[in-house]
Amino acid sequence: MHEMSLAEGVLQLVEATARRENARRVKTVVLEIGRLSSVEPEALAFCFEAVTHGSLAQGAALEIVAVPGQGWCLPCGATVAMAALWGACPRCGSHQVQPTGGTEMRVKEIEIE
Ligand SMILES: [Zn+2]
Repeated sequence: MHEMSLAEGVLQLVEATARRENARRVKTVVLEIGRLSSVEPEALAFCFEAVTHGSLAQGAALEIVAVPGQGWCLPCGATVAMAALWGACPRCGSHQVQPTGGTEMRVKEIEIE
């Protein structure tokens, strides 16, 4: 389960920010998860709760924003919506689609107090 190491990475970033700002605790963490990033939002939320235990981010609300997948279809020469990594182009059915968006996970916002 690679979500555990991702959750640890998120926590490191969140804690570094919280310390820099002299925060007492972290209230909310907003994460953007691309639909093509192969990150399971539910698994990540579960891991986040586990790794934040005993940290400044314990009890922080985790908000997950799903970012739609996007790709560039070679035969169409167009940017198309992608439902899955290595999915077919919705216009021509080709699998020669290069993912261009929604492939990453990133911390969008951290709310502290
Ligand atoms: Zn196409």
